Amino acid sequence: RAKADGRNVARFFDPGMQDAADRRAAFEAAMRNGLSLGQFRLFCQPQFDGAGRAVGAEVLVRWQRGEHDLIGPDQFIGFAEESGLILQLGEHVLKESCRALARWHLDPQLGRLKLAVNVSVHQMRDPGFPASVANILDGTGAPPERLYLELTESVFAEDMHEITQRMHELRSHGICFSLDDFGTGYSSLAYLKRFPLSALKIDRSFVRDLGVDPGSASIVEAIIALARNFKLEIVAEGVEYEAQRDFLVDGGCSSMQGYLLGRPMPIDEFEHAYGAAGIGHA
Ligand code: C2E
Ligand code: MG
Ligand code: MG
Ligand code: MG
Repeated sequence: RAKADGRNVARFFDPGMQDAADRRAAFEAAMRNGLSLGQFRLFCQPQFDGAGRAVGAEVLVRWQRGEHDLIGPDQFIGFAEESGLILQLGEHVLKESCRALARWHLDPQLGRLKLAVNVSVHQMRDPGFPASVANILDGTGAPPERLYLELTESVFAEDMHEITQRMHELRSHGICFSLDDFGTGYSSLAYLKRFPLSALKIDRSFVRDLGVDPGSASIVEAIIALARNFKLEIVAEGVEYEAQRDFLVDGGCSSMQGYLLGRPMPIDEFEHAYGAAGIGHA
């Protein structure tokens, strides 16, 4: 609320803006509190090869604010980026992911899986990021070659030299990079040559329109051909229908994820379903 001494700039805002500022401050405090209480939980969505074998998983964070109050990342990642909390959240996600990889290493089934973790451009901007990832790998004993960091095309709007250098530094520890939501953003094909990438993820908007829009089928085919030429792995996201899976398998897509194949689930559930002693997925 505006203070009487006049130094508080808030009094120059209209009441609506004041409310928005209050809401932001409250949300930030709630997120900080949630971080300290361990309310940010890792979910895992399985990824499969063309033969239907599980080959990996993607970590997707959720905020468990209460027993029946689970919030998806679309509702807080943008805010975490604006407020700077993304660095703390990102570190938590990486630490928990590496702990999982270290556990999985001891299991004959889970030990074969790759684990993909989404990384914000704000994390990539941080010069201390590679060292912090290396520390987490050391501390947890996770096998670095199983860790994939997913970047979106927004990193290409950054200082090229800086980002490439940071990627090479992380690559030198054995970590791989995937380009997420490929085809939706800033991509220029030149980036595929310049950046040390291991995988491309076909955005789910193209997968969704397979069978509806012939243009999407052409785009998907072109991305698969591109990946093959650049010797990149390919992961299709958002596979919901058998016809989509069949199209992707016939087209030579090396792996895929989506509700048809497996939903994101709490990590302990994932380990139960996909571990050697697990019950398999329904
Ligand atoms: P993304 O990395 O592209 O993740 C895929 C999103 O698609 C996930 O949404 C997933 O639940 C959803 N999805 C998976 N299969 C299907 C399907 O068959 N159909 C449909 N309609 N959707 C499907 P989610 O979990 O809501 O995550 C949204 C975005 O939030 C992610 O997009 C990612 O960009 C971001 N995100 C998630 N976790 C993190 C994180 O730990 N750090 C950062 N920086 N971003 C994160
Ligand atoms: Mg992703
Ligand atoms: Mg994606
Ligand atoms: Mg996407």
